[in-house]
Amino acid sequence: VTESVENLSMLIDGAMVSSDTFSDVINPATGEVVYRVPDCSREELDVAMNAAQRAYREWRVDDDRRREILRACAKALENSVDELARVQTLEQGMPLAASVQGIQGSAANFDRYADLEIPVVTVKDDDEALIQVVRRPLGVVAAIKPWNVPIGQAVGVIAPALRAGCTVVLKPSEYTPAATLVLGEILRDVIPTGVLNIVSGSGEVGSWMVEHPIPRGISFTGSVATGKKVNAMAAPDLKRVLLELGGNDAAIVLDDVDPDVLAERIFWTAFRNSGQICMATKRVYVPEALHDPIVASLARIASAVKVGDGMEESTELGPLCNSMQYERVKGLVADAIKDGATVAAGGNAIDSSGYFFEPTILANAHEGMRIVDEEQFGPALPILTYKTLDEVIDRANATNFGLGASVWSSDTGRAAEVAALLESGNAWVNTHSQQHPNAPFGGAKWSGVGSQNGLYSIFAYTDPQTTWTSRRALTAGA
Ligand code: NAD
Repeated sequence: VTESVENLSMLIDGAMVSSDTFSDVINPATGEVVYRVPDCSREELDVAMNAAQRAYREWRVDDDRRREILRACAKALENSVDELARVQTLEQGMPLAASVQGIQGSAANFDRYADLEIPVVTVKDDDEALIQVVRRPLGVVAAIKPWNVPIGQAVGVIAPALRAGCTVVLKPSEYTPAATLVLGEILRDVIPTGVLNIVSGSGEVGSWMVEHPIPRGISFTGSVATGKKVNAMAAPDLKRVLLELGGNDAAIVLDDVDPDVLAERIFWTAFRNSGQICMATKRVYVPEALHDPIVASLARIASAVKVGDGMEESTELGPLCNSMQYERVKGLVADAIKDGATVAAGGNAIDSSGYFFEPTILANAHEGMRIVDEEQFGPALPILTYKTLDEVIDRANATNFGLGASVWSSDTGRAAEVAALLESGNAWVNTHSQQHPNAPFGGAKWSGVGSQNGLYSIFAYTDPQTTWTSRRALTAGA
């Protein structure tokens, strides 16, 4: 369905702001332009940063007010789920039902951060002094986000950073800016002027944000390569960084599983959102004897998945989000086949004007193949075999990534012993790609710096402050 192309605006200092030049947003299911978004200029970014700094003075003061406003954000989002979900699917490609569910989750996230109790730790409370540890907001937070789950990523920083008392300047990915700009328009009515600013633009705008003198905190989610640049750019000013980066999660299957049950359970942990999830299962290690039955079972599931336009109700998997990622996945799969992987399902791009790729199972994969060594971020899963547990643990850990890893077994005790040896921020048993709102989510090694969710997000957007009140009287003779 071709609809007229709408120009969207940025939220800067409480106003919806256009710009001199615009960029197109492409619907990955059709290749058509669906929105045009402003290219933020340096001057516009300055206005946004100054507005955030000005708003910070008042915003940091009243936590009860912040909680109230977060609840209003939750309501505003609930009332806009359908509109936002549609925009998100049009630009990102994910099935509409998944988009709806994600945005409902984000609305709940606002409420969750409103309800969160932020502890004040009393270290000493006696005749001499009251010494406490409070969380002091960093100030302005510059947030730079990726294209895989735009609204979830945006609210994942907005809700905790605002609750913590920070103000925010946020930039979504240039591939998926539309839903986040619409979110800005929706939240403009409930968030005070300057507290939240949303700008659109390329990576260059992101680098201006990191190097800008105003923000004291950087919240970055994206690739390892960009994350390293962000870390280096933030260092001279000693800005606090939260870096949530890529993953190459291994799943280790022990020798006591039922291949069909395993395949059913593990499949969607790898293929949800067409594999464009940082903590998706990205390589599966199986005992030699189980390789063929597990591959056969995964291939059966993969071949039955309905791939299509996310706007169609029957669609289970949408396209890759953009041409860059589509070309990358095509290249990784072609290389794997050239290097000896066997295609058990899929293997090809789907002929259409969109960026569709068949759900692909690559059997007999091994290290040295790019799809095993790198993060594929797409609907193609390599299956590798192993002989001993010591060996497979080493191979799972032999990577600079460290976001998540899982162990699958009928004996959860045995699996937990293996999981304890995995060098990753998340270690799952008989599941994968799971987050809990109160459990820290972050990466080991190159997968990130810092963690988020619940109090961990509050910690990321605050520094501890020791408050010390002497109880010795100041009056003469006391
Ligand atoms: P990316 O690094 O290419 O881009 C992320 C953001 O950084 C975009 O907004 C981009 O405009 C901006 N950017 C680009 N160059 C910049 C620069 N020099 N300075 C500042 N900002 C710059 O990542 P992507 O392709 O959008 O996202 C996919 C990656 O994100 C994958 O590796 C995925 O695993 C990772 N990811 C991680 C998590 C997590 O929580 N760990 C979650 C989702 C995605």
